Formats: sequence, C-alpha cells, structure tokens
Amino acid sequence: MYGIKQVHRMYVWLATGPGGLKPIWILAPEKVAFVEKESLASDDDIIGDPGLRKPIDSYPFEIRDSLRRRYLAKGPCQPVGHEFPFTFIREKNRRFQVAWFKDYEWLEYSVSKDKVYCLYCYLFANNNRSGGNVFTEIGFNNWKDGRRAFVNHEGSPGSSHSGCR
Ligand SMILES: [Zn+2]
Repeated sequence: MYGIKQVHRMYVWLATGPGGLKPIWILAPEKVAFVEKESLASDDDIIGDPGLRKPIDSYPFEIRDSLRRRYLAKGPCQPVGHEFPFTFIREKNRRFQVAWFKDYEWLEYSVSKDKVYCLYCYLFANNNRSGGNVFTEIGFNNWKDGRRAFVNHEGSPGSSHSGCR
C-alpha cells in the first residue's frame, strides 16, 4: 500500500493573484515520505551506549518511528553499577553522580565517552531547536555544574526539552 505516512506540519499562505486572495498549501518537505509500509528497526540499529549512536535523522525515514518506540521501551541508558571515572575540574576530582539518574530520568550516561545525554532530545528534538546540541551530540561532562546544567536543560514548560517529551 502506498501513501503519505506522516505529515507533521502544514502551512497555509495567502497569495494575491488575479482572482484575489488564494490559499497555497505547503507541506514541510522533510516530514513527508511515500513508503510501502513502515519498516521495523533491527536489533543492530539499537545502540545501548548513547555516545556511540548515530543521529535519528541519519536513519531511513521509514524506520525512525520504530527506532523511537524501541528506545523509549528500553528507557534511558543508566548504568548504575559503573565505576564512574574522576576528572580533575576546578581544583577537585569530580565524577558523575549516580543520584542524578533518579532526579533526572531523561539522563543517559555513555561509558565510552564519560559524558551524559538526553534520551528525549536525542529521539525527538529537531535540528533547529534552541539550546544547542550539548545533550544530543556533544555530550555533557562538566561534573562541577551537573545539577545546574540539568535544571537548565529541563527549562521552562515551553523549552525545547519539554516539547520533546
Ligand atoms: Zn532533553
């Protein structure tokens, strides 16, 4: 079966012409795809360590929803038993605190990078989000300012993070 799988946004513009004002419908092109049927992500597509994942946008359109569902079902990568390494930051040895996992359930820790990421922003943030890509691509590891950075990332109800939930 062929068809439009998903349309997230539709814009309506009014244009003046010989017949007066006319609506012009514009579909956001990156959100429209013709697919035979939804394909399912394979086990190989699911990467446990958030520091080793490819951006969702780099996967074929028809498996992205399946990928998102599988990552959501799996939940954030929170290796509580890990021996978190110390880094010397501002006169002190500091490291990731396990308690942060409880307080910020979106938090994911990468064992390979010793950095944290946000599961929801990884799965749902779009490329023009505000607030940069620290919690999606670069990774955060300034353990001195952990809590402050996490609260900032959560932001107000209208923040890009909240929009991803
Ligand atoms: Zn987020």
